Amino acid sequence: MSLVFNTLPGKIAVSALLIVNLTACQTAAPVVPSNSGAAQPTAHNNFNSVLWYQTSAEFRANAIQTYRQATDLLSKAKSDPSWTVWPQTNAANLPAAIIVDIDETILDNSPAAAQDVLTNAAFSDASWDRWVSLAKADAVPGAVAFVNAAEAMGIKVLYISNRACTVRAGDNRTCPQKDDTLNNLKAVGIQQISAAQLWLKAEQADWSSEKESRRQLAMQSYRVIMSVGDDFGDFLPNVKKNITPAQRAALVDQYQTHWGSRFFMLPNPTYGSWDTILNQPKQQYLRGF
Ligand SMILES: [Mg+2]
Repeated sequence: MSLVFNTLPGKIAVSALLIVNLTACQTAAPVVPSNSGAAQPTAHNNFNSVLWYQTSAEFRANAIQTYRQATDLLSKAKSDPSWTVWPQTNAANLPAAIIVDIDETILDNSPAAAQDVLTNAAFSDASWDRWVSLAKADAVPGAVAFVNAAEAMGIKVLYISNRACTVRAGDNRTCPQKDDTLNNLKAVGIQQISAAQLWLKAEQADWSSEKESRRQLAMQSYRVIMSVGDDFGDFLPNVKKNITPAQRAALVDQYQTHWGSRFFMLPNPTYGSWDTILNQPKQQYLRGF
C-alpha cells in the first residue's frame, strides 16, 4: 500500500513525488484485492478536496455568497473616501480599485488538479503550463458578475496573480502565460480587461510569490477598497512560510472586521499556503478528543 502526497499549484516549482510506503499497513491490515496494478485515484491525498471543489453545492454556495456580499458593498466602498483595505496615505484623492487573485478566485483550475488525481500524479510545472496554455478554465461562481459590476461602476480591477511567466518550447513569446490568462479571463465573460491589469509573478524583479510589493505598487495609484483571494497570502504579507497555524489564526482574528467588508476569502481545500506551512508529519496538527 502506498500513498502519494502531492503539492499543488501555489505555482511553486515543487514537483517531487513523495511516496511513503506504509509498511505497518502491510502487516496490520488485510491486503485489498485489486483487479489491476494501476494506482487507485482514491489513494491520492487530494482526492476528497478536489471532489468537494468540483461537485459540492456547498462550494458553489460559498463562492456565490462571498461574491454577493462583495458586490453589495461596492457602491458604499467606492463612495466613502476613507474606505481602504490597508492603511493608505492620500487615498481620498485616488481612484478606487479592487485587487483580485486569479487562480481559485476568478478561474477554477480544478480540472488540472483532478487530472493529477486521476493519473495519480503530483503537481508538475509542465502539466500546469499545459493547462494554462489551454485557457479553458471556467469561472468561480459569482466572480465574473462581481468584476463586471466593479468595472461598470468605474472601479479598476487589478489581477495580482502568482501565475509565472516562463518560456515554452516552440514559442518565442516572453510570457505566453499572460496571453493565455488574458484570453481565459475574456472567455469566461469579463468584459473590460487589458494586459496592463494583469500583474503576474516575476514580471518585474521584485514581484515574487510574496504579493506585498505589488499591493504597495497598486496603492501608489489607487485607493484599494477590497481584496479577494483564496489564500491568506492574498491579503497579508509574511503568512506563507515560517509561521504556525495558530499564528495565522491569530492574524485572522486581528482582522476580524475586514472579513466580509474589505477582505473576501474563497474556499480552496485543494492547495495553498494553509498546507505548505505545515511541517511533516502533518498528523501532528490533528486534534482529536
Ligand atoms: Mg489563488
